Amino acid sequence: MIGRTHLLFGLLLGVLAVFFFDVNLWFFAAVLLGSLVPDLDEQRSILGRRVRIFSWLFEHRGICHSIFFWALFALLFFVVLGDLDVFLGFTIGFASHLLLDSLTRQGIVLFPTKIRLRGFLRSGGIFDYLIFYGCIVVIIVFIVKLVW
Ligand SMILES: [Zn+2]
Repeated sequence: MIGRTHLLFGLLLGVLAVFFFDVNLWFFAAVLLGSLVPDLDEQRSILGRRVRIFSWLFEHRGICHSIFFWALFALLFFVVLGDLDVFLGFTIGFASHLLLDSLTRQGIVLFPTKIRLRGFLRSGGIFDYLIFYGCIVVIIVFIVKLVW
């Protein structure tokens, strides 16, 4: 999936979480960051263009798309910031990224096993755009529902 689809799908799950958790604004920043961090291993991604060391060190959809990478970043944020909302937001964003990537033809490998989860969607294809615009509609509906 392309970066903006990851951002909006993560945001959608973050908005859904507001129905269950009382969160601060940093939660949403963490959701957005978490939804992009796994693609640090892709040099053309939103974050990968800015921080190239991960794409030099790791193959795309390898260890950066794993629970180990999530744990490393989530614990780092929690230790440094001490904010449970940031931890939760990052976790939701990261999980949303892995969920969407697991629906693509390339899929994701459940590191350290060789088990690959894959679907039939093509990154940048029609379903990528359908998910993107569908997220916009659903987010607007949820926000309206939260406000009224
Ligand atoms: Zn990815």
